[in-house]
Amino acid sequence: MQLRCFDEHCGTTLALHDPALACPACGGLLEVDVAATSVDAQALKKLWSERRSSRDPRDISGVWRYREFLPDYAASEVVTLGEGNTPLVRGHKTAAWAGVRDLQFKHLGWNPTGCFKDLGMTVGMTEAVHTGAKVVACASTGNTAASLAAYAARAGVTGRVYLPAGQVSLNKLAQALDFGAEVVEVEGSFDDALNTLLEKTGEGIYFLNSINPFRIEGQKTTMFELMDQLDWKAPDYLVVPGGNLGNSAAFSKAFDELLRYGFIDRAPRMIVVQAAGANPFAQLWRDGAEELTPVSEPETVATAIRIGNPRSWKKSLRGVRATGGQVLDVTDDEIAEAKAVIGRDGIGCEPASAATLAGLRKLRASGAVIEDASVVAILTGHVLKDTNFIIKAHQREEAHAHS
Ligand SMILES: *Cc1c(COP(=O)(O)O)cnc(C)c1O
Repeated sequence: MQLRCFDEHCGTTLALHDPALACPACGGLLEVDVAATSVDAQALKKLWSERRSSRDPRDISGVWRYREFLPDYAASEVVTLGEGNTPLVRGHKTAAWAGVRDLQFKHLGWNPTGCFKDLGMTVGMTEAVHTGAKVVACASTGNTAASLAAYAARAGVTGRVYLPAGQVSLNKLAQALDFGAEVVEVEGSFDDALNTLLEKTGEGIYFLNSINPFRIEGQKTTMFELMDQLDWKAPDYLVVPGGNLGNSAAFSKAFDELLRYGFIDRAPRMIVVQAAGANPFAQLWRDGAEELTPVSEPETVATAIRIGNPRSWKKSLRGVRATGGQVLDVTDDEIAEAKAVIGRDGIGCEPASAATLAGLRKLRASGAVIEDASVVAILTGHVLKDTNFIIKAHQREEAHAHS
């Protein structure tokens, strides 16, 4: 395995463990080039299935179980909290609300820190420790911070998180504090926090934002696990919320590899849903533009996707195009309504996750998705990630009822 520039016109390659954050030739994003030579898909499916009854911490992890497609580390190096292994939960009221018969949720909020960031963090932190890092850092809208803090604590390194001041859910901030991270508040948005962090290169800090290709590798395994759960038969649609677009970028890479090495014969159409107030990717899609125009002041109640300048848009776009998917946006009201319906199904999620159901309903209403379609929606964060949002929504409802 090696690192390769994602820009196909550049294609610069680096050693796998090179600490570069971006391509030294063109500044583009890097990705891990799996370049497997002999893959026996049937044998691996069987092996991965057998690992579910093993006691090896790497087999128990829903990420490292698929390690043939991950960078190779000694078993003792792997920093894991038993992430992954999240269930598929069938939607009932949600399916009726969206107008489809076959809806399942893959709930990544049921990870150790309540969010999918753990899936990338286990690989990113393992790589950080492998390279000898003592301080790891990220900019975050909250969930990456909570995850980094937990995995840094496990690894015994210093975790430092850059947060947009006053814009992070207290539940997420509390997690980062509980796990002992150093918290730096930055005036402005997530994008400002990320820029502040990126200026700190050369200070001996290992960066764990989703531009880090090792995080993408970990998040990629979500699709390995999902296809495994579906007996390697893709649903018609996969719906995922889009913020910085790391997760949809990771899924794109997974589909590419799963198809290339014969694990699946068809990928689901990938639908990326953004919030209307933070929708540069949806705008790009609508306009058929070739370059992304950032949104300078992103605004949405779904704070996890309040991002104006998503870094991984090219990687995500590759997957949307390759699978015949699309990108759309939904309003905060639509997100809030969808979130309440997910709650009534006994599932629950944080606001950003509910963008998926809102997006699906919108696509059904426009006729883009038919009633008989099979759909898997990705829920990205746990219901307890933003309790203030829930309490406020219900206080508003009460006030309404009494007025
Ligand atoms: C990080 C996050 C997202 C956005 O994912 P990206 O990879 O940035 O597109 C969505 N929902 C939740 C809950 C998140 O924490």
